Parts: sequence; structure tokens; C-alpha cells
Amino acid sequence: DAIFDEECDYLFKAVLIGDSGVGKSNLLSRFAKDEFRLDSKPTIGVEFAYRNIKVRDKLIKAQIWDTAGQERFRAITSSYYRGALGALLVYDITRRSSYESVGRWLVELREFGGEEMVVILVGNKCDLGESREVEEEEAKRFAEAEGLCFMETSALKNLNVEQVFLQMITTIFDITN
Ligand code: GDP
Ligand code: MG
Repeated sequence: DAIFDEECDYLFKAVLIGDSGVGKSNLLSRFAKDEFRLDSKPTIGVEFAYRNIKVRDKLIKAQIWDTAGQERFRAITSSYYRGALGALLVYDITRRSSYESVGRWLVELREFGGEEMVVILVGNKCDLGESREVEEEEAKRFAEAEGLCFMETSALKNLNVEQVFLQMITTIFDITN
């Protein structure tokens, strides 16, 4: 509410990007509401969620934007990225094609996003190790070469979800302060 907003020290906008079906919406619902859904339910219109987090004694309101299925049509527009200080670029470790799209997402990020944007490459669905198509080492090397942070997560098992959002928000905080 408004009173609480005034008590926040900072408002950070961050975006979720990556191919359709990689788990972006579930990562966000896990982080914001601790919820997971088995069915993929594309939302209508741009959606975002808020969560307040304490970082280094400051209260930060994190506003995380989720695509509403526009990524299917490569129809994410510049307004989605406007003002974003961070991005989670998500692929599915069991779907190689979603990893191969990462380069294209980076081009878009660099076109529409700010110079200083904190980008974390996220290999989601790490609970499905037996169907893995992208080795962790390969993605880690790629991330290093591109100057990105990297983490594997599972929205289903709630592995590293809190950590990946916290890392992004803390890094944004440290860069802007
Ligand atoms: P989005 O299109 O990127 O927003 O992806 P969704 O969040 O809608 O997820 C797509 C599908 O993958 C859904 O059926 C989810 O239940 C499933 N999913 C998402 N995250 C995970 C995960 O960490 N592990 C597993 N096994 N399935 C997941
Ligand atoms: Mg979605």
C-alpha cells in the first residue's frame, strides 16, 4: 500500500526473458508468492509482481515483469525493457533449443536494455537432470565469456529461486550505490 511504499528506500524494475515454456512465470510465482503450477497458463497483457526485500539494511521494492506470452511471437517491445535494471535470461536445461536462443535474447537486451543492466543467465528445470541437454559447465563458460552471472534453478523443487532473485537485486543495489 501507499504508506508502505513510502517506507521503501528503492524501487527496482527487473524483467524475465527467454523462450516460451522455460519456466519464467513459475520462477516469478515461486519468488513472489511461493506458488508453482503444473499447467502453463499464458497470461494476458503484461504482468508483474512485487516483493519487498531487505538488502544491506535497505528496504527494496522489487518489481519483476513477466512476459504475457509475447515471447512466442517475438513481440516483446521496448517498453517492456524500459527502466529495467536487471534481467533473468532463462532457458530450460532439458531443451537445447531454448539455450540456443540465448544469443538472440542477448542481442535484444543489448538493444533495448540499459548499459548497466545486471543480467543473470538461468538454467531452469534442474530437477530434470535425467533429461538434461545442456551441461552446466558449458553454460557457465558461456556466461563468463559474455560477462553474465549464471545459476541453475528449479521452480518446481524451489531450488536456487530465492538465491537467483536475491543475487540480481543485491548486484543492482551494489552497482547503483
Ligand atoms: P514460461 O512460458 O517461460 O512462463 O514457462 P512456465 O512458467 O509457464 O512453465 C512452462 C512449463 O514448465 C509448465 O508446465 C511448468 O509447470 C513447467 N516448469 C516450470 N518450471 C519448472 C521446473 O523448475 N521444473 C519442472 N520440472 N517443470 C517446470
Ligand atoms: Mg509465462
